[in-house]
Amino acid sequence: MALPRFSGPSDLHLHSDRSDGTQPPAEVMRAAHRHGLRTVALTDHDTTAGWAEAAQAATSLGMTFIPGMEFSAKHRWRSVHVLAYLIEPDDPALRAETSRVRRSRMDRARTMADRISRDYDLTWDDIVAQTTDGATVGRPHIADALVAKGHVRDRTEAFAGILNPDGDYYVALYAPDPVTAVALVAGAGGVPIVAHPAGRAGVLPHDLLEEMIDAGLAGFELGHRENRAEGVHTLARLCAQRDLIVTGSSDYHGAGKPNVPGEHTTSDEMVARILARGTGSAPVHP
Ligand code: AMP
Ligand code: FE
Ligand code: FE
Ligand code: ZN
Repeated sequence: MALPRFSGPSDLHLHSDRSDGTQPPAEVMRAAHRHGLRTVALTDHDTTAGWAEAAQAATSLGMTFIPGMEFSAKHRWRSVHVLAYLIEPDDPALRAETSRVRRSRMDRARTMADRISRDYDLTWDDIVAQTTDGATVGRPHIADALVAKGHVRDRTEAFAGILNPDGDYYVALYAPDPVTAVALVAGAGGVPIVAHPAGRAGVLPHDLLEEMIDAGLAGFELGHRENRAEGVHTLARLCAQRDLIVTGSSDYHGAGKPNVPGEHTTSDEMVARILARGTGSAPVHP
């Protein structure tokens, strides 16, 4: 067997300002390197736009770069995030659906801005000012605009109040169902792994998880600060039974969240399994 060309520690879930992180991709890679990481993935929401910059920065720092994306899906009202490693970025089916989600995110942010502006001093331009050109727009950018206007202290406060799904301003975004999302990622040669699968909302229904596995789901991100112990326990059993991949990661968003690079990591064995399974794009070695 060939020796693996990467080494740990590995953190495979990091965000840049191509979505809702607060730093450009190269800066994210520098932060990861400062925290001692040797293998990293960039997983911006519904975009691969940061790959080239991140790969260049990561490899120049001696790290292995794994291309990724965090693909939005939805089960009924609940958002489900599918990490998509090593996808073919130009796969037509995946690209079409990703574009649809991104367009919906834009429409939805405008509608939310309209609703919020009835009660707070906030314009669409305030929100645009918080995004970099072409970035995947999300509630975090609305949060940043609310902070800039002095309506809330930070993103956390915005999400707990004005941006909360239970509130009057919330608008849902379009996203494919989780089985479709998994199939699209697998169809693009990618390795689909459910992000933070045991959060506050609990684990997805077992039947749905089985369908997702049948559609090509590769594993679960069991190491994540938002996961709850009970759900992790349930999913760890499923992973053992079905021989699935288990990852751990930080979900770093720069200053947008308290998460720090490397706070959870993925074992070398599991990184090797991801690399062996993904065929849509290749890791970039230093
Ligand atoms: P959206 O996809 O636009 O509905 O927004 C969800 C995004 O907001 C997720 O990707 C999270 O990274 C981010 N997010 C959710 N809750 C919080 C929070 N309390 N503080 C900061 N960011 C959050
Ligand atoms: Fe995010
Ligand atoms: Fe997520
Ligand atoms: Zn994430």
